[in-house]
Amino acid sequence: EYQDKYDVVIIGAGPAGSLAATMLAQRGVNVLVIEKSGFPRFVIGESLLPQSMVYLEKAGILGAVKDADFQTKNGANFSDDTRFSSIDFSDKFTEGWSSTYQVQREKFDSLLAREAEKAGAKIWFENTVLDVQFDSEIVSIKGCGQQGEYLIKCRFVVDASGYGRVLPRLLNLGLPSTFPVRHALFTHVDDSLDRQDFDREKILITVHPKHSDIWFWLIPFSEGVSSVGVVCSAEHMARYHGSASDKLWALIGETTQLNDYLKGATERRPVSELSGYSSNVSRMCNSQFALLGNAGEFLDPVFSSGVTIAFKSADLLIDPLMRQLSGEDVDWEQDFAAPLKVGVDCFRAFVEAWYDGELQTILFNPPPYDNPIKKMIVSILAGYAWDEKNPFVKQGRRYIDLLAAQCA
Ligand code: FAD
Repeated sequence: EYQDKYDVVIIGAGPAGSLAATMLAQRGVNVLVIEKSGFPRFVIGESLLPQSMVYLEKAGILGAVKDADFQTKNGANFSDDTRFSSIDFSDKFTEGWSSTYQVQREKFDSLLAREAEKAGAKIWFENTVLDVQFDSEIVSIKGCGQQGEYLIKCRFVVDASGYGRVLPRLLNLGLPSTFPVRHALFTHVDDSLDRQDFDREKILITVHPKHSDIWFWLIPFSEGVSSVGVVCSAEHMARYHGSASDKLWALIGETTQLNDYLKGATERRPVSELSGYSSNVSRMCNSQFALLGNAGEFLDPVFSSGVTIAFKSADLLIDPLMRQLSGEDVDWEQDFAAPLKVGVDCFRAFVEAWYDGELQTILFNPPPYDNPIKKMIVSILAGYAWDEKNPFVKQGRRYIDLLAAQCA
């Protein structure tokens, strides 16, 4: 017995789910979002890329984000205690936004969810999707909330459940990631970083002075709070003992500059641990479902690409889904999965080159500032990974290898 009927059900009200819900509701689609948590809820993924502004603007919600007083971000600094490099997003190849925000996700995701509701989407918080069944014509969603279990009918289901990966699990779509399992430890601190030599408008990526595959992030928010975290392999992590907090601060203590910046910083929330977050799937979509954001493929946090890819996937969903709802046949692989893959593959090449060391070589020994090749790399770091006029989008690894050989 179905309790209700919708055109589209979206699983999860993270950035991917809320943006898709907003854009569908604006087009008159009857859309329900089912979200497991009560909002505000914490999730990691706090440094945005300028490319993400395009989608906020397209959905008409950039004004609301601007009004929320998030910390602006205009670039990235890299350090390994002996070498330093600064990327300014305005020095990029692709036209468009060169700044963005560093956001507390509790606040950012609540804002996006509110905008989706304002646009006319329904969101049921503290409700969990337990099962999804596909018939030739309808999709049945089994959910569970405070009143118990229920069944909902829809024409199309969008999985934006992030690390929940609801459909990959139910449909057995999961593929092992090509990246090794890495661990992340992170927290928020009262940062006492009002010193002159620290630029709050840039994420600071610190490479461990002895192990180039260990790196730290320091993401300043507004109001004297920062997000700090480390990513390292299981082997490295096994060398540290004690609580998650002990391990994080022991690792930070092995750096000079970052350790100095964080003297006097105090934890505002318990240190979280996450591992094995990279994932892949054998199929992203068909005529009854699509995977958005992290529910599809997740690469690695080093270039802060997660939310940008989540937004891009939501944006790419709209046109084919609207056509299908109006009765057209849609080639989902060609119209949704393939264009999304262009940017994801570009980021993949950059992430691989980061851990292989080539990208670190380039970033720490950059070509002269007005070099057009540097602008192309800055463009990717700003998230413009779908601009095929930039040769690094389709052939990133080849050009990175050539350039690294010259920079070394
Ligand atoms: P999410 O934001 O994870 O939202 C999914 C939602 O689905 C959640 O609210 C969850 O409660 C809900 N849900 C789950 N299961 C169910 C269910 N069964 N029923 C109903 N609802 C459900 N990205 C960046 O852009 N910048 C960064 O700086 C960055 N740093 C990162 C650092 C680390 C260590 C890691 C691991 C990731 C980082 N990311 C970063 C990636 C970022 O976390 C994700 O890419 C981003 O949150 C994806 O958004 P989403 O909308 O796909 O999913």
